[in-house]
Amino acid sequence: MNVESKLRILADAAKYDTSCASSGSARKRPDGGIGNGSNGICHSYTPDGRCVSLLKILLTNFCIFDCMYCVNRVSSDTPRARFTVDEVVNLTLDFYKRNYIEGLFLSSGIIQTPEYTMEQLIAVARKLRTEHRFGGYIHLKGIPGVSRELLVEAGALADRLSVNIELPTQKDLDRLAPAKSHVSIERSMDQVRDAAQEHGTGRSSRFLPAGQSTQLIVGATPGSDAEILTRASDLYRGRGLRRVYYSAFSPIPHAHSELPSEAPPAVRENRLYQADWLMRFYGFAAGELTPAPDANLALGMDPKLAWALRHREFFPVDVNTAPKEALLRVPGFGVRNVKRILSIRRFHRLDTMDLAKLRIPIRRAEPFIALDPGSARKLDSLHLPAQFSGRVEQLSLFDAPALARTGEF
Ligand code: SF4
Repeated sequence: MNVESKLRILADAAKYDTSCASSGSARKRPDGGIGNGSNGICHSYTPDGRCVSLLKILLTNFCIFDCMYCVNRVSSDTPRARFTVDEVVNLTLDFYKRNYIEGLFLSSGIIQTPEYTMEQLIAVARKLRTEHRFGGYIHLKGIPGVSRELLVEAGALADRLSVNIELPTQKDLDRLAPAKSHVSIERSMDQVRDAAQEHGTGRSSRFLPAGQSTQLIVGATPGSDAEILTRASDLYRGRGLRRVYYSAFSPIPHAHSELPSEAPPAVRENRLYQADWLMRFYGFAAGELTPAPDANLALGMDPKLAWALRHREFFPVDVNTAPKEALLRVPGFGVRNVKRILSIRRFHRLDTMDLAKLRIPIRRAEPFIALDPGSARKLDSLHLPAQFSGRVEQLSLFDAPALARTGEF
């Protein structure tokens, strides 16, 4: 099989990993036009916020495991291919020199053993970095359960490493991916975290400057958003992950009867990204966003607004006196704007015009704030916008992950 045919198979097989923003794009080059969303070019974000194009491929889609949700599982009859280390290195350099890409995202099915597979991934990164002095971005997949030495070597060569946790609970893994265990996956994450702490973390570190990430599949099991967000929260707090990606389950050909026949609504993935952003930057706990008995996020409104409506006693928040933590809970107040409000109010009291100048969506925030004593409108008399009448609000730039990058919520 020639390299082009392998590329077609192994780029397509990599699209299910959502650690790149444009994963799953099926856009083809129009007749006579330019630009192609397929064939393995995707985008990701560097630690300094730059968007970079990556060659996103698997080293091979052969795999000895049989995870039911995966198109590459051993029992699948999907076409198979395997790159050599040199083929991946040459493709990366070739695409890089032609300015198609700024880096490589390399994952793999498990061949022979997890250790052997990890060694092959490392061999690609080592050759690029040492023999070809490649300075571009490299994202490697970390294979759970391999030795600490291999993970440390991978971390010294790559910008980002991701060990995928896949499903929120061990019960889910036992059902759909019995060869995997959270204990082994989390041990690998801990080893990467500890090595990063020894080497010094952050953008200037030579060890994984973009940190480690993971992926959680949404909708392959009946697991609730509460379980997913609790797991994500544990990973951020306990294991120092930089990002958790949420990937809506997509039905695969000849799927096992244990799997749902339909993908979950796309808006569920968006709500999870919004909730994730609220946990990381707005001080919300997973349990506040998905309180019992409602274990799932509302699809018809964003989780910050949903929290505000459940906690009307918390409002109105006085823009001129409230602490930062309270301001961050006001719908429509983003992290950047809260910072600006705190800075402006050192000099004078804010009024509606000040908020307008900050481009805060006044109509969204107004029912939840007080600018002058007695000026707050009572929430009970609030004319509720359309999203409260049960209609799913239209997704816009306000929604994650676009929102997650702008930091305004
Ligand atoms: S180990 Fe990875 S590639 Fe192999 S079947 Fe499971 S999810 Fe798919």
